[in-house]
Amino acid sequence: MEKLGIFQNALKQFDKAAELLKLSPDIKELLTTPKRELIVNFPVRMDDGSIKVFRGYRVQHNVARGPAKGGIRFHPDTNLDEVRALAFWMTWKCAVVGLPFGGAKGGVKVDPTTLSAGELERLCRRYFSEIQPIIGPEADIPAPDVNTNSQIMAWFMDTYSMNKEYPALGVVTGKPLEIGGSAGRNEATGRGIRIIAEEIMNYLGKNIKNTTAAVQGFGNVGSFAALLLSEECNVKVVAVSDVTGAIYDPEGLNIKELIEYRDKNKGVIAGYPKGQKISNEELLELDVDILVPAALENVITAENADRVKAKIIIEGANGPVTAEADEILNKKGIIVVPDILANAGGVTVSYFEWVQDLQWYFWDIEDVRRALAKIMKKAFYDVAKVREQYNTDFRTAAYIVGIDRVYSATRLRGIYP
Ligand code: GLU
Repeated sequence: MEKLGIFQNALKQFDKAAELLKLSPDIKELLTTPKRELIVNFPVRMDDGSIKVFRGYRVQHNVARGPAKGGIRFHPDTNLDEVRALAFWMTWKCAVVGLPFGGAKGGVKVDPTTLSAGELERLCRRYFSEIQPIIGPEADIPAPDVNTNSQIMAWFMDTYSMNKEYPALGVVTGKPLEIGGSAGRNEATGRGIRIIAEEIMNYLGKNIKNTTAAVQGFGNVGSFAALLLSEECNVKVVAVSDVTGAIYDPEGLNIKELIEYRDKNKGVIAGYPKGQKISNEELLELDVDILVPAALENVITAENADRVKAKIIIEGANGPVTAEADEILNKKGIIVVPDILANAGGVTVSYFEWVQDLQWYFWDIEDVRRALAKIMKKAFYDVAKVREQYNTDFRTAAYIVGIDRVYSATRLRGIYP
């Protein structure tokens, strides 16, 4: 079978919903075409005095419902096709949870582990200056994604503020608390997954307590999802993995201990003395109630979907299941809760952060958690209702909810001029 590009894959998901909604070809074209795509090539002075040129992207897919919103990733494999797909997903994600944002995404083609702290800071500041013409608290608000963090957001905020000559807290989210970050932003994507996991279990008439889970990826999303599932829902997390491999314990892993180990061990779980070492592939095929792929896209494909034994897949990452894999999983009766619903907790608390920054008034963690739970639960039931109405899968239902909201905004605003 020919492998689809990531954006093509995303379009296939969209098409399934568009067909049920009977969208005309011109509306389909309008809603799928990215509004703006910026490529920047920029130099960075390396520590040894040499100059290296890097390539970065910022794609704004759609801004019908509000400013563009979405993270920035640093990865050696990042390319325009990937960033375009990620921006596209942000549009539907923001619409599904009802945030007044459009979708965007950015990336720099770089392996940040090869840079010194100084090189990383210079790269961040130069990249952000390069994309600044299309960025701003009212235009496009970046955030963390794969391999970017709150320190990087602090440099982005400072760079923009220095260039503009006033402090602009609301230009990025995911910042440190000291400079306009929000309580609960760090855990937000993981907490959203934990909320969705509980809701889907309730919806299916099951109890989440004592179910088993495997989590692929142990970065911000995977580690908080694993921690909150185990600590707040009594889920037995039997396996977790990162780029160095996976650890399995049928009795359940101690996630808190694993996080502490990772933080003292250069950010990886390699060498953790307990549990059994298994491969990433084996983790994806474990017989568990809940599988959370929380790393990168395209990990469950036509090649391995048939071997997946989990009953429910909750997409922590963006695009971890390909369109072909979706078909196989649907046939097997495996429920997939899609990225544009399941991992929307991150951007939801980003929205809260932006609101706090614009008002210069900050909430406590209880307010953030309460507001997040309310939004995630409502989004879940909005999608579940449409799923029953159209007798379709969760992903297609989520697209239907998102497309309906974006198209309504487009219709009301009309076509300029
Ligand atoms: N990068 C996250 C995502 O894919 C968060 C985006 C944001 O907070 O703007 O949803």
